[in-house]
Amino acid sequence: MLGIYIHIPFCRAKCNYCDFNSHVSCEEERQAYIDALCREIRTVKFDGEDTVDTVYFGGGTPTCLTPRQLIRILDAVRDRFTLDKACEVTSECNPATIGEEGLCALRAGGFNRLSIGIQSANDEELKILGRIHSSADARECVNSARSAGFDNISVDLMFGLPGQNEESFMKSVEFALSLETTHISCYALKIEEGTPFSRMELDLPSDDDSCDMYDLCADMLYKSGFKRYEISNFARPGFESRHNLKYWKCDDFLGFGAGAYSCANGKRYSNIADTAQYIEKINSGLTAICDCETLSKADMMSEFVFLGLRMADGISENEFERRFSADIFDVFGDALLKNIKRGTIIRENGRIRIPDKYIYVSNSIMVDFV
Ligand code: SF4
Repeated sequence: MLGIYIHIPFCRAKCNYCDFNSHVSCEEERQAYIDALCREIRTVKFDGEDTVDTVYFGGGTPTCLTPRQLIRILDAVRDRFTLDKACEVTSECNPATIGEEGLCALRAGGFNRLSIGIQSANDEELKILGRIHSSADARECVNSARSAGFDNISVDLMFGLPGQNEESFMKSVEFALSLETTHISCYALKIEEGTPFSRMELDLPSDDDSCDMYDLCADMLYKSGFKRYEISNFARPGFESRHNLKYWKCDDFLGFGAGAYSCANGKRYSNIADTAQYIEKINSGLTAICDCETLSKADMMSEFVFLGLRMADGISENEFERRFSADIFDVFGDALLKNIKRGTIIRENGRIRIPDKYIYVSNSIMVDFV
């Protein structure tokens, strides 16, 4: 089945580390964007699978829009596609942008999963990051979501932050665990060019310290019943993000909105990133796609392995054969055998995966398959 990604490029304020396609907006711009987005969804020409089993609202901060606006966009998806009965419908959410009433409205409107960016339990760290919420807001947001009927809630944490040490990060992990959610994502801070952080003198932990933080976090999460299913993602059994798994399994998805990517029917394409230009194109009846690439079989095989190795279960040899009518060892034999010999890849029960102890350095292993 198909996945759908909806991009909401608005935030209340820009965080100091963020280079995502998002900005602070006014109501007039948001209205014009939603109109264009609904039009893009309703008029998209797509000759593939029409049944959708995941819809993901990301950004930006989708909850900068009102629940009514978000539901209007979801209704446009329902008008154009068939939503599977068990469709996972997720919205990213920034604490302090939505209260219990709004969350109840989202739940009633068909959203059944929330991904809440809490980032840290330390208010000083949150301030340095430029987040607009406190840890108390984060707790309140998770509690309100639960009261509103969400039983599938994810929280995001960040590590490798300025001034952070193992002790403060462990407190954040304990805080996240105390929220009793079903899913926790854990991302390393990256200093991206052009962000305020890239122009600041920051007291950052070393790579080794960050690596230790990640390992300690993974241990704590395992002991609390979470399982790592991807480099940065941990879930209680059965609560893995079905939408994000589509990306790592190279399943088809369509993206709508400014800068959104799609990958379907052997093509990868993206929309124009600038919001004003996106609105103008759609309103003129034109496509917003600005970049389209037909993937060769070699590209697809490489992506299947490269992305699949991000998952703790890795990739299935049979699935590779089914998709590409080729034996994975005939295509990637040298890279596989080299890594199997070094112990950086394990082959067992018809699957190929990176063992836990190398998962944090998996990028250096995956390059062998590009
Ligand atoms: S809330 Fe998220 S998308 Fe918005 S600026 Fe902060 S990190 Fe970026």
